[in-house]
Amino acid sequence: MLRVGALVQLSSDILKETLARPTVFKDESPLSLEYIPSRLPHREEQMRFLSQLFRFSLESPFSISQRVQITGDVGTGKTILTQRFGTDLVRAAKSRRINLHYVHVNCREAKGSLFMIIKRVLTHFEPEFPKRGFAPEELLHTLMDVLDDKNIHLILALDELEHLIRIEGATPLYNLTRIQEERIGKPIRLSLICILREPEYLQKLDKSTIDTLQRNIVKLDKYNSRQLIDILKDRVNLAFKENTVADDALQLVADIGGQSGDARYSIELLWRAGKYADAESAKRVNADHVRKAAGSVYPMLRGEYIAALSPHEKYMLLALARVLEETQEAYATIGAVEREYRAVCEEYNDQPRGHTQIWKYTRSLGAIGMIAASKSGEGVRGKTTLLGLQSIPASTMREQLETALTSAKKKRFPRF
Ligand code: ADP
Ligand code: MG
Repeated sequence: MLRVGALVQLSSDILKETLARPTVFKDESPLSLEYIPSRLPHREEQMRFLSQLFRFSLESPFSISQRVQITGDVGTGKTILTQRFGTDLVRAAKSRRINLHYVHVNCREAKGSLFMIIKRVLTHFEPEFPKRGFAPEELLHTLMDVLDDKNIHLILALDELEHLIRIEGATPLYNLTRIQEERIGKPIRLSLICILREPEYLQKLDKSTIDTLQRNIVKLDKYNSRQLIDILKDRVNLAFKENTVADDALQLVADIGGQSGDARYSIELLWRAGKYADAESAKRVNADHVRKAAGSVYPMLRGEYIAALSPHEKYMLLALARVLEETQEAYATIGAVEREYRAVCEEYNDQPRGHTQIWKYTRSLGAIGMIAASKSGEGVRGKTTLLGLQSIPASTMREQLETALTSAKKKRFPRF
C-alpha cells in the first residue's frame, strides 16, 4: 500500500515532470472566457451600428435615453460585442471629458432580480454601498440620485435578460424604461442595452415597453467556418507558440465549430486540442488532437445551454433522456415522454404543465437544437411525433440535467 507521504512524493514528481515537458502554448489566457479581444472580426458592421446609435452620448450627452436590443444564439458574440463597444465608448468619452459610464450586469448571475442588478450597479459607483435598508422600489430612485449627484450618463447592459423576465416578469423593464419619463425636465441619465438569446421572451412585456425596445435591434447570426477561422487565427497568434497549430487542424476546428456557429465552443475546442497535443508531447496541434477534443466536449452540454432553459424545459429534456436511456432507441414517442415528464415534475415537487404547453417546450427545445423531432412513419400506429437527442448520449444528458436540477433545488430551499 502507498503511504500518504509516498503519494505526495508521487504527485509532486508528476507535476515536476509535467512542467518540464514542452508545451504548444505561450499564454493560455487569450483562450479564456474573460478575455476581451482588441478586435472582433465579422462584427464590424454591428459595431458601426452601435456607434451610430450612441454617437449622441459624445455629441450631445444627456439628451437621449437610448434603448438597444442585441439578440443571437449562444457564442455569436453578444456579450463580447457589447463589452468591447462599452469599453471603447467610455474611453472616447473620457478623452472628451464626458462623464459616461458603462456597466455590464449578467441577469443570471444576479439571480434574475432587479434589486440585485441595481445593487451591482450602485457598487460600481460606490463600492461601500450599504447592503441593507433599501426597498426594491427605492433602489432605482437611489440610482438616479447617484447619477444626478455625479452628473453621469449610464449605459446599462443587461446580459442574459431572459432570467430577469422569467423571474420577475415585465415590471422591472417597465420601470427601467419609464424612470426617465417620470423625470421631466431633468437630464437624461440612463440608456439600456438588452442582451438576450430569444427575442420572443420580450413578448411577455407590455406593448409600449416592447415598442421602446424594438426600435433598435442588433441581430447576430451564427458564424460560418470561414468567419470562425478569422476569429481563431487571432487567438492562435496570441495563445500558441509559433507554428504549433497545423493549418488543417485549425480548419477542422472551424469546420466543427461552424456546425453550431458558436465561437465560444470553437475557442474551447482549440484550447482542448492544444491540451491533447501537450499530453502527447507533440510539437504541433494536428487534426487528430482536434478530433479527440471534439469527442470530449458536447457543445450542447456546456453549462450555459442548460442554465438558460426554464425548469419545465429541463424536466422535458430529462424525461426524454430517461426514456431513451431505458429503451435504447433513437427516438421516443411524445406520449411516452409526456408520461415520464409528469413523473419528473413530481420528483422535483413541481406542477406539471398542460399538453399545449408541453408542445411549446418541444418546439423551443427543437428550435435551439437540443432535440430532434420528427413524425413517425411506419411501425408506430397512427401518426405521432417522435423525439430524439441530437448526437448526445442519453445518459450524459440525464446526468447533466439531474445535476443542474438538484443544485437549483438546493438554492431554492436553502438548508440551515
Ligand atoms: P454570446 O454572449 O453570444 O454567447 P460571447 O460574446 O460570449 O457570445 O462570445 C463567445 C466567445 O467567442 C468569447 O470568448 C468571445 O470572446 C468570442 N468571440 C465571439 N465573437 C467574436 C469575434 N467576432 N471576434 C473575436 N472573438 C469573438
Ligand atoms: Mg453571453
